[in-house]
Amino acid sequence: MIRRARPAMLLAALAALACALALGGMAAGQGEPSLLVMVSVDGLRPDYITAADARGAKVPHMRRFLKEGSFAEGVEGVIPTVTYPSHTTLVTGVSPAKHGIFGNLTFDPLRENQSGWYWYAEDIRVATLWDAAARAGWTTASVQWPATVGARVTWNIPEFWRAGTPDDSKLLRASATPGLLAELEAELGPYPRGFGVEADELRGRFAERILEKKRPRLLLLHVIELDHVQHQTGPFSPEVLAVLERLDTVIGGLRAAAERLAPGRAHVAIVSDHGFARTDMQLNLFAAFRAAGLFTVGDRGRITDWTAMPWTSGGAAAIVLKQPTDAAAQSQVRLLLEKLAADPANGIDRVLDADGLHRRGGFPPASFLVGLKPGWEMASSLTGPRRARGPLPRPHRHARRCAHAGEPRRPRPSRRRGQGLAALSWPRSAPESSLRGPAHRAASWVCSDRRSVTMTGRVRSSGVSMITAT
Ligand SMILES: [Zn+2]
Repeated sequence: MIRRARPAMLLAALAALACALALGGMAAGQGEPSLLVMVSVDGLRPDYITAADARGAKVPHMRRFLKEGSFAEGVEGVIPTVTYPSHTTLVTGVSPAKHGIFGNLTFDPLRENQSGWYWYAEDIRVATLWDAAARAGWTTASVQWPATVGARVTWNIPEFWRAGTPDDSKLLRASATPGLLAELEAELGPYPRGFGVEADELRGRFAERILEKKRPRLLLLHVIELDHVQHQTGPFSPEVLAVLERLDTVIGGLRAAAERLAPGRAHVAIVSDHGFARTDMQLNLFAAFRAAGLFTVGDRGRITDWTAMPWTSGGAAAIVLKQPTDAAAQSQVRLLLEKLAADPANGIDRVLDADGLHRRGGFPPASFLVGLKPGWEMASSLTGPRRARGPLPRPHRHARRCAHAGEPRRPRPSRRRGQGLAALSWPRSAPESSLRGPAHRAASWVCSDRRSVTMTGRVRSSGVSMITAT
């Protein structure tokens, strides 16, 4: 059955997951420990798998989960529905406001942090799945999972980059578990940097070798090329399907390894963080805020001071005030946003104030959130026009979006198949949410083989809940 847990139950449920797996493994394997492998395929819409035939995608390994295991149809996205906040919700079960990973990039009004992301686990304010596993006495491993630099993971290769130069490999060796990369690279060659399906395939091999050599009880793997290629070509392109099929093979290999190492005791879950929607237009709030004198730019084109600043994230932007209690600044920003929203040509769907935003678990430092209509995304240039067509030289730019969804869909009932469990729910509408988009566009998807408990963070606009299938 499907249960929706209340927020207060979330961490307990995470711990219960660990216990359930451990007990289940003990029972099924005559005392042998169980194994949980969780793979995040970044940007995986549920219909890539559930409607694979119609899309022309050959993904037999992931299709097996539909027949033999359980699958939950999407989740309601967090605010913002982007990679780092969503992944951290997957391993904590709570909203970004609670777990502390508020966006992909940190808020950096003066643009001094060189596009720094939320790479560091020390920013996570609550217990994670690897913490719960450690408390249960499990060893853990993680390959390329977001926000894991410095995480208390037994064998850890975090997702981390800086300049995009070969020195990033040294940075990664210094931030991974000491000696781990050197040991694995001696067998497998250099750990990959950046994008490319070959890089994901190699990450899969590193994960598999960690399973074989280190025998962790929990392994997390994040593969990223599906996200990248959708940014380049849009969803459902032939290039995307080609990547999807190769990632399916990676998942098949990991599942086989897990079942070989823990026969009858392996649990494999596939998750994702968001979907993609096509965008044609951009709104640049920076142009409007600069024109309104809410920040100033010096002779060298750098921001010199600010009163209020957008913090963009796909199809939405949080608005942060330098002094949140500054009533005059609040009033000025509110009037500006109302004026911009009143012009349909700007593509603004709605504006949330601080109460509405924080109630939905997003952007605690912000005073407003601006959500765009379908087809729009936020731009962040200091010099560009307020509105523009998307920057790619093709008729339609496709981008990950976080404030709006596609067509609202009715949730489908969960169902069982075979001995496994099945729970299918498309990104569903959240009528109580004034930012209905995050709910719609979140294409997170969880499936699990066997009879295991599977779960994902499920964040509703009115709070946090979680789906568990038991
Ligand atoms: Zn992502």
